Amino acid sequence: MVEAYSIPVTKIERSRLPGVKLENIPFGRTFTDHMLEADYENGEWKNVEIKPYQPLVISPSLAALHYGQAIFEGIKAYKNSAGESFIFRPYDNYKRFNLSAARMEMPAVPEDIFMEGMRQLVALDSNWIPALHDHSLYIRPFMFSSDEMIGVRPSENYKFLIILAPTGPYYSAPMRIYVEEKYTRAAPGGVGQAKAAGNYGSSMYVTAQAKKQGYDQVLWTDVYEHKYVQEIGTMNVFFVIGDTAVTPDLSSGTILAGVTRDSVMTILEEMGLKVEEKPVSVDMLMEAYKAGTLREVFGTGTAATVSLIRELKYKDFVMTFDTAKWTVTPEIKNRLDAIREGHAADKFGWMFKV
Ligand SMILES: *Cc1c(COP(=O)(O)O)cnc(C)c1O
Repeated sequence: MVEAYSIPVTKIERSRLPGVKLENIPFGRTFTDHMLEADYENGEWKNVEIKPYQPLVISPSLAALHYGQAIFEGIKAYKNSAGESFIFRPYDNYKRFNLSAARMEMPAVPEDIFMEGMRQLVALDSNWIPALHDHSLYIRPFMFSSDEMIGVRPSENYKFLIILAPTGPYYSAPMRIYVEEKYTRAAPGGVGQAKAAGNYGSSMYVTAQAKKQGYDQVLWTDVYEHKYVQEIGTMNVFFVIGDTAVTPDLSSGTILAGVTRDSVMTILEEMGLKVEEKPVSVDMLMEAYKAGTLREVFGTGTAATVSLIRELKYKDFVMTFDTAKWTVTPEIKNRLDAIREGHAADKFGWMFKV
């Protein structure tokens, strides 16, 4: 018989939960009572433990702060009406985490630390999972280089942590999107397909410029011609054109392979739409818009789930949409929510019991 992987646990003396209002709790600001921490030293993972959520003590020479070997994941846990807790497709995030690690020359995190550690941590803090519609517990695994030495080379030491944050609805209003044609996010051969911290740091300036002009996010385009769309912020993008849903394909390695993206493709097919992964040019989108066949545009990601897009601006051309008339995007969200919140059968095997 396989022994359950046992992780030492130090419990908090008194939970902070009674002082927290879970309803409509803003994303990413409140953390649960416990966290998981592990160290990579001398070629192996050790000191795996679950302990009270607390600050880390770091040296000013911490390698991650200087050279950016840092990656993360985003996953959500839900509670059904029977009070059971489930995590949405965590194994897909586990695999992606180690792909990001490999690209950043960081060690892989073993499955028992990542998966079983996450399960035990979520089980311990399961009272923090809001059992409310559109609410969940956001799970943030992350790893960074922890050598205390200045010098550009891969670290010998790393830290892996998992923290948890209860969260309410993320983006509520339909978004205005600026199609970026000056700055770029990811080039072939780069790290666009990795959830590497630096990808987000480098996007802040560009997003801030777009926000000054009244946009919510930018839609990134290819580095050569600014002709083919990639993704939006921390979301993949879909276009419903006629009876086909189109999303940029992943072959150039510039786009993060979203777990929500994959789930939405499955749901779209279940709804009877054709799904195409292919290069998506802005020209093609403008043609479809002019012909009246570009019906719906939306972003997908763990944090926001499905976000409606009411405006796309490319150079002087503005495409606007009356999102109140949409049928496909709301239906996707309903079907996904129903599975995750336990109102519909988990026919695709996406829900991992805690
Ligand atoms: C995390 C992320 C996504 C969405 O991935 P999910 O697995 O669906 O959460 C899309 N694009 C980028 C750049 C991301 O960081």
